[in-house]
Amino acid sequence: MAKITLPDGSIIEAADGATAKQIAEQIGAGLAKAALAAKINDNLVDLATPIKTDASIQIITAKDEIGLEIMRHSCAHIMAEAICSLWPNAKLVYGPTVEEGFYYDIDLDEPIRPTDFERIEAKMSEIVKADKPFIRKEMTRAEALKKLAGDIYKSDNVNRATGDIMSFYSSGDGFEDLCRGPHIPSTGKAGAFKIMSVAGAYWHGDPSQKMLQRVYGTAFRNRKELDDFLTRLEEAKKRDHRVIGKQLDLFSFNDAGPGFAFMHPKGMIIWNSIVEFWRGVHNKFDYEEIKTPIILNKELWHKSGHWDHYKENMYFTRFDDADYAIKPMNCPGGCLVYKTRKHSYREFPLRVAELGLVHRHEASGVIHGLFRVRQFTQDDAHIFCTPDQIEAEIIGVIELTFEIYRAFGFDDFHVELSTKPENHIGSDEIWDIATNALKKALAHKKIDYKINEGDGAFYGPKIDFHIQDCLKRSWQLGTIQLDFSMPQRFELVYTDKDNTEKAPVMIHRAVLGSFERFIGILIEHYAGEMPLWLSPEQVRILTISEKSNDYAKAVEKILKENKIRCSCDLSDEKIGAKIAFTHTEKLPYMLVVGPKEAQTESVNVRIRGQQQNKTIKLDEFVKMALQKIADKQIDLNV
Ligand SMILES: [Zn+2]
Ligand SMILES: [Zn+2]
Repeated sequence: MAKITLPDGSIIEAADGATAKQIAEQIGAGLAKAALAAKINDNLVDLATPIKTDASIQIITAKDEIGLEIMRHSCAHIMAEAICSLWPNAKLVYGPTVEEGFYYDIDLDEPIRPTDFERIEAKMSEIVKADKPFIRKEMTRAEALKKLAGDIYKSDNVNRATGDIMSFYSSGDGFEDLCRGPHIPSTGKAGAFKIMSVAGAYWHGDPSQKMLQRVYGTAFRNRKELDDFLTRLEEAKKRDHRVIGKQLDLFSFNDAGPGFAFMHPKGMIIWNSIVEFWRGVHNKFDYEEIKTPIILNKELWHKSGHWDHYKENMYFTRFDDADYAIKPMNCPGGCLVYKTRKHSYREFPLRVAELGLVHRHEASGVIHGLFRVRQFTQDDAHIFCTPDQIEAEIIGVIELTFEIYRAFGFDDFHVELSTKPENHIGSDEIWDIATNALKKALAHKKIDYKINEGDGAFYGPKIDFHIQDCLKRSWQLGTIQLDFSMPQRFELVYTDKDNTEKAPVMIHRAVLGSFERFIGILIEHYAGEMPLWLSPEQVRILTISEKSNDYAKAVEKILKENKIRCSCDLSDEKIGAKIAFTHTEKLPYMLVVGPKEAQTESVNVRIRGQQQNKTIKLDEFVKMALQKIADKQIDLNV
């Protein structure tokens, strides 16, 4: 008998050689039915795996993220089998999972077209309906290579794999594929799936190799989850910031600089509104602001460690017979500013912010609108303090961070804490002090968080902030990173109470991360309908006829005196056409004025997204708009 430890710590006995499936049955019929795979002593395995010795076991179902991933990967096999049955010449290359789906790279001369997806899916449904078991067969590397002779792709996969045991999986009637596994027990356990797209992909991502066809699919636990996902995808397409950015004339990209955004006048109004707000909050939280150069010499980047660890992502230049790099991060420059004078414990904590323009090279295949650019402005700051100030500083950063997120209408966030990795610098003592300070600060703010054990940087633990947008997509924005390395590399010191020189604790933190990316997120979250305080144009005044031009101009003057961004539409168009056109520009307010409004010093207010309109006194409108701007209200109702 083998002693089997379950996730809740309880122990059951199982017959020697009992499979994970049998153990699931022993635990309960419901679990056995839902079971997709198992984790035995931290190894993911098929349900059919026999357990020979005492072990801990967790039965994996589709409710587990990893269970969903195994199901998606199994769908990649089902799709491969379907494609091979429709195109017997297809050669399979590689079929991993990706976020929210899977793909299979296929070598086939005849192109697979979107019009083929339906019949591939129909074939897949047949395979699922047949509920064929995934059966694992193991052999040695040499045997596997012999079996795969002539199949360059799968032989290559064997050559790239580690270990001497290779495994093949067959599903019932002859379809077989080299794979490490694990898979769902049988094809009938696949959830709801859909083929999404097909694209060209070079073998090994190498342009000198053959172009393969990469067929993407997705799978979810059930039809409803798949439908929800497809709806979200449709909605995301409508909100694509690249499309809206063009439509509203906010920014552009040009082949002259791939991955470098050009911000247009309207985009700069959003940008500057964020900067102004950001500065105000930082002022309130006692930050100073600096600006450091974007080009600094090679010696500095050697000292900071970037030359050795980050070189692939950096841009370089050379002049006056010396090598320089364009900064990918602001920290080294911040350290140089720190070092320009002596520091005492009395001036700690020292909070130094920088809206730093950084350049990081990204492969051309991954740059994506404002989300992934090669140049961006980071809302950076470095806090220098003593170890016993860490906790209070972290609390301060958390408060500042949430204040900023809430102003943009993001109330739904989650926090992750990453702790000491195996490879780290700094004593266990300082790691304990720092990690405990982070935990205490989170506890103090009553924040639930997820711990990523061992996931911190080698130089210190960190906290990440994630927000959720209206499509329930999660975005990592802010980060608080403790650093025990850089103060040493730059020999930063301060004079402590006992008159000795000590290295300060350095905290790196960013709230929005990248301004460019954040603006992209805002555009998609609001579908271009920016909150009033961020709208490039807040109010448009529309005249019913030219008789009201003077009054319209007077209204414009008053709004401008109150720093409300506005313009007049005095064109000869019919009022209906003017309103329709202004709608497409997604302005928060339209003020329609005619002789009646002029006589009563009032305006007819139309609110974005609403059919009704309301006539109110002009001074009342101004007062209300100013209040909403000052409070950063999202609600536009008058
Ligand atoms: Zn597989
Ligand atoms: Zn930094």
